[in-house]
Parts: sequence; C-alpha cells; structure tokens
Amino acid sequence: MAGAARFVIERFRELYGASPEPRVFLAPGRVNLIGEHTDYNLGFVMPVALDLACCTATAPAGDGRFRVFSENLGESRDWPAAGIASATPARDWGDYVLGVARELVRAGFDVPPRNLLLYSTVPVGSGLSSSAAIEVSTALALLEGRPMEPLELAKLCRRAENQFVGMPCGIMDQFISVFGRDHAAVKIDCRSLEHEVVPLPEGAEFVAVNTMVKHELGSSAYRERVAECAAAVEALARRLPHVSSLRDVSTQALAGFEGAMPPVVFRRARHVTGENERVQAFVAASRSGDLERMGRLLVESHNSLRHDYQVSCEELDFLVDTAVRLEGVYGARMTGGGFGGCAVLMIRPEKTVAVTQALSEAYETGFRLIPEFYPCRPSEGAREVAADSDGSFTAAEG
Ligand code: ADP
Ligand code: MG
Repeated sequence: MAGAARFVIERFRELYGASPEPRVFLAPGRVNLIGEHTDYNLGFVMPVALDLACCTATAPAGDGRFRVFSENLGESRDWPAAGIASATPARDWGDYVLGVARELVRAGFDVPPRNLLLYSTVPVGSGLSSSAAIEVSTALALLEGRPMEPLELAKLCRRAENQFVGMPCGIMDQFISVFGRDHAAVKIDCRSLEHEVVPLPEGAEFVAVNTMVKHELGSSAYRERVAECAAAVEALARRLPHVSSLRDVSTQALAGFEGAMPPVVFRRARHVTGENERVQAFVAASRSGDLERMGRLLVESHNSLRHDYQVSCEELDFLVDTAVRLEGVYGARMTGGGFGGCAVLMIRPEKTVAVTQALSEAYETGFRLIPEFYPCRPSEGAREVAADSDGSFTAAEG
C-alpha cells in the first residue's frame, strides 16, 4: 500500500487540480507510556511519537477561500480567508483547523487563501492524539516553510485547542507531535518545558490496543478533573504558600493534608503526585533496563487512574486485567484521557503475536467488539515530506 503522503498528493490533485503542486506536511500521533493527567498539573509525562500521523497537503487557492477536506470523514469546510482573525468556533472538526489558522494570524503570520487536504492514520478519538496530529500538521501547512521555533509551534497548537476548540488540555500531545524521536520515548517536564530523550530498552515491545469504545462522559469528566486538581491546589496553598500546582507536592507531603480537602479531591491529588513519581521511576527503570519494574509501574499507574482518578472504564479494565495475566506481558495500563480509547501493553517481543491473539479473543467474547492493535514504533516529530516520497509512513490497512 502506498504511503499516506503519496496518497494525499494523489487525492489532492483529484480534488483541487494538479496545479499548483501541493506541499505535504505530517505530524504524528502518540502513545503516552506513563504520566497520565499530569500535563495540565505541570508534572511529568513520557510519550512516544508514533508512525501513525496526519498528512496535510496544501497549495494556494485562487478564490479567496480557506478550505479543508478531511479524507477520513469525506467532508469539507471553508471560510473566507480574510475573516480568519475574527472566526468563531462551530463546535465540529473544522475548529481544529480554523483554530490553528486563527492563532497563526494572531501571532502575526499572514494566512492567504489556500486549499488543504488532510488524511490521518491516527485512529480518531482513541486516545492516540489525532487532534494534535491535525493541529500540528495544519500549522506546518499554513506556515509553508516559514520558520517557527518548535516550542512556539507546540504552544500555538495547544492554544488553538484550549481557546478555540475549548478543550482545557495540557501541552503533552502537541509537544510530542513536534518533538518526537525515532527509537526513543521523550520525558517532558510540563512546567519548564524541557525534555529528555529516553531510549527504550531492548527486550520489550509496546503495543496499543483499542477498546473501540468512547464513552460520552469523557470530555465533561476531563473538565471536572481539571477543576478538582485546582481545588486541591487551593486547599494546599492555604497551608503551603509555595504550592502553585500539584507538581510542587510529593505523595508523602500530601498525606499530611488529607483532612484539608474533600475525600474525592484528595484522591485526585494523590493520583497526580503518585503518577509524577512513577514517571521518574519509569525513566530510571528504562535507563537501567529493568523491564519487570517498568511493567509494575504501568500497572500501578492503571490502578491509580482506575480507583483514585476514576477515568478508566469496564472495557479498559478488562483489557488490562486480562493482559497482565498472559505470559510475556510485563505490564499494561490505559493511555490517554480515559473512558474508552486505548490501553498500552508492554510485551516480550517473542510473545506479541500470542498475546494479541489471546487478548483479541477474550475481548470479543466479553464485549462483542474486535479490538485493533497498533505497534508503537517510536518516530520523528512533525516535518515536511518530499512530494515524491511516501514519508515512510504506513497508511492504515483497509
Ligand atoms: P484524540 O486526540 O485522542 O484522537 P480528541 O477527542 O482529542 O481525541 O480529538 C478527536 C477529534 O479530532 C475528532 O472528533 C475530530 O473532531 C478531530 N479529528 C481528528 N482526526 C481527524 C480527521 N482525520 N479528520 C477530521 N477531524 C479529525
Ligand atoms: Mg486529543
């Protein structure tokens, strides 16, 4: 199967004509290995950029419009290019594109009329960050080679999602889509915005598995968790003035303040402080090749998300519980925001086929759904791909 980049060029020519020639930019999705719901608390995360990506082809348009077609949805949106600065959200997928265009205009970049075609191999809405893949590839397409600092690019795309789409997400997804590395995970400090490349040890493979469900609760619960964490910070700051985010508190220090906040708020905070500590431990275990310890940390993370943070669901718990009982599985946990989407498995490579098969059968029996599996091949961050290459990105099978 032709690569996704070549595919978007062919489709672009069919849709918009062969002249002018489009340029193609791609931005990867990601799997977060550990550090969940810590980014908006200014803590630590450790994602891997995937070889699943959004490819955006673009060329100037002659009719004054700013137009985008999503190959995945078979739908297009368009706006007057001159009105981008004052655009308002429509509460649909076009907001991810228009929001990025508006942020670019606000940052002083001219966004002239143009046609865009996007095609993503990141499963949409499954916790592998199809949204940041769209945002970052759109931003690069609209910049069309004009330089921007990588960190500014990530921040600009996050602003589009926070302020235009209206999702109060942290910086992780946009950051890793920009800063992804071949063969390695990236540990991000979401306060200082420094990152550290962490090579993954030999002897284990990471595979994402999709529950194929997305419970409605997801986005309202996300906002609720953001508010609960803010409530915990407020309660702590009254007694500990140096605390301005949960990043400033250890699990041990937090334990002394259990009575200072409602029990639910305390449990949310305990997840965040514990999760930050688990990221540090996971990085150390990766560096020393301690696969068993890495696996245990994944399971601890899942249990904390399940019981303290309460963002898991029956399907995710089933996949994790079933996986960890299979021979060759070091550990597993939900990944992404929760309430459906994907879990990530850490498996001894020679067992991957047997594990995915057994898990698939068990899940189908239990839920009448066939889960999809995505091998997690750590990949480079966002970039332009030459028109005659396939970008070495594999298009989704099907
Ligand atoms: P995730 O980022 O985990 O995949 P989100 O809910 O953050 O999930 O983002 C999913 C949303 O992003 C979709 O509902 C849609 O609006 C938009 N989106 C992602 N990929 C595409 C695509 N290929 N075409 C159109 N919209 C997309
Ligand atoms: Mg997203």
